Amino acid sequence: MDVDTCLKKLGYVGVLDFATVDEDGDPQVRTISAIHYEGRTLYFLTARGKSFAHQLMSDGRVQVAGYTRYKETIRLSGKAVRVPDDEQVHWRDLIYAEQPYLENVYPGESKNIDVIFKIEDYTIEYFCLATRPITRERFAIGSAVLKPKGYLMGRDCIGCGKCQRVCPQGCIEGAPREQHVIQQNHCLQCGNCFEHCPVNCIERLG
Ligand code: SF4
Ligand code: SF4
Repeated sequence: MDVDTCLKKLGYVGVLDFATVDEDGDPQVRTISAIHYEGRTLYFLTARGKSFAHQLMSDGRVQVAGYTRYKETIRLSGKAVRVPDDEQVHWRDLIYAEQPYLENVYPGESKNIDVIFKIEDYTIEYFCLATRPITRERFAIGSAVLKPKGYLMGRDCIGCGKCQRVCPQGCIEGAPREQHVIQQNHCLQCGNCFEHCPVNCIERLG
């Protein structure tokens, strides 16, 4: 898997979930299809008066998720910024050309209420449940940084093998009495190894 294939898959899914947080810190999710992909940048529109636009203007953090028919989740986390005034019409017209239904929603001059945002610094998480073991990959684009996530065996591991026996994906490597290691690209991050380690040497990263 790679970034560009993930973006193509999101494009095929078409209608994506966009999550933000409101002024009370509560999650807010809506589905958006008015998206244009330009290289690795996502352009999308909403109306200036919508709470979605206000949340993006005041906070900007956004998480976008799509699920394919092949049991793949693709999750993009980043910051949305309003595109400059002199680019607004250009990107709006491009999105309208690709999504003709928008003309029914905002006909004629009413489309001037639209505001265009872009996301160009983000992380992507790819997660596929159709393979055995499962597949997980993460990427950082632009200035985004990947945060540690999942589980990690510490140096106090005694190599007892308990974690291997309880791992639903068989994704822990290690010989008896030697340091064990999680194959992160196949880990569900379910925490079963963490709960069963007799010496509590497995760390939860986030
Ligand atoms: S978190 Fe779950 S899937 Fe990952 S290594 Fe531990 S038991 Fe296996
Ligand atoms: S259960 Fe804990 S001590 Fe035993 S092999 Fe796994 S990580 Fe090491």
